[in-house]
Amino acid sequence: MSKRNIKDLGLKELEEILNSWGHQRFHAKQIHSWIYVKGAVSFDAMSDLALDLRERLKESFSFFELELAEIVESSDGTKKFLFKLKDNNLIEAVTIPAERRITGCISSQVGCKYACCFCASGMLGFKRNLTASEIIEEVLYLKYNLKDERISHIVFMGTGEPLDNYDNLLKAIRIINAKDGIGIGARRITISTCGIIPGIKRLAGEDLQVELSISLHAASDKIRSQLVPLNKQYPLKSLISACKEYIRKTNRQITFEYVLINDLNSDLQNARNLSTILKDLKLAKVNLIPANPIKELKIEPPEKSEILKFKDYLVEEGVNVTLRKPRGSDIEASCGQLRLRYGEKQS
Ligand code: SF4
Repeated sequence: MSKRNIKDLGLKELEEILNSWGHQRFHAKQIHSWIYVKGAVSFDAMSDLALDLRERLKESFSFFELELAEIVESSDGTKKFLFKLKDNNLIEAVTIPAERRITGCISSQVGCKYACCFCASGMLGFKRNLTASEIIEEVLYLKYNLKDERISHIVFMGTGEPLDNYDNLLKAIRIINAKDGIGIGARRITISTCGIIPGIKRLAGEDLQVELSISLHAASDKIRSQLVPLNKQYPLKSLISACKEYIRKTNRQITFEYVLINDLNSDLQNARNLSTILKDLKLAKVNLIPANPIKELKIEPPEKSEILKFKDYLVEEGVNVTLRKPRGSDIEASCGQLRLRYGEKQS
């Protein structure tokens, strides 16, 4: 039987196990500190634990399971990491440097079941949820790779729909956020969803101040269902009403991501529709992102003049809007692209 990864245990759970073994509970904090603060990569390194405890830990748990398969670096500093999991599945994570911040973009599933038409991950289908330890190990790998710099922000915008893997995601986030864990502030952690309404409602009741971002990409059901098939299950009216409820309960802003795709969702009529549906939301912000070209999917960004017209219209209507640059397009940094290419190379 394969061993459980030690990173799948929260502090309390580890305390309980140590207690059942006849060891003091406080060793759990020492173990977490070795893993998440001091960067230990084996139980042998935990020099302030008794030898018999280290041996018992070694017998009972695995330590690091992710294996680095490839790193690709973009001319803009974005770095994409391809990891091989224990079952040989592949996942991706990305570091995105910007002024005074380095963001780690993390995957939450192997593949994805929602098949959004602009997303290479959807093309590969869904294989399985990532465990909490696999999610945490992505973050640790990025952290170790940076050496002198620090990951300041985490976004769950890699492969997979994070709210579709709710329990493992939240378990990982609690360790990423904990002071005796990786120590990244909750407000610097963003969960990005395509609109899983039950997950949004559940998140509104958590005692965690994480940021929520919705991949909106269209302001009419007709276009959104074409881009994000999940819209047929959770149409815009219900999604916006769940967002309203989330803002009312948490008093936190929601960011709406809108990828501008040529000949599809980037003309003035779409800008009008967008401003209309956001009018009712008190705390909303829009990020406009010109699409990264994906040749397999025939996706292209609009002309710059069309992008600016779209943005200016929203500004005039009083929408809080930011135009973002697509990052890492020379290394296929859109979700799932590296895995897709690696998969092609492998076959
Ligand atoms: S955009 Fe997100 S939800 Fe949609 S297919 Fe890609 S990974 Fe899945």
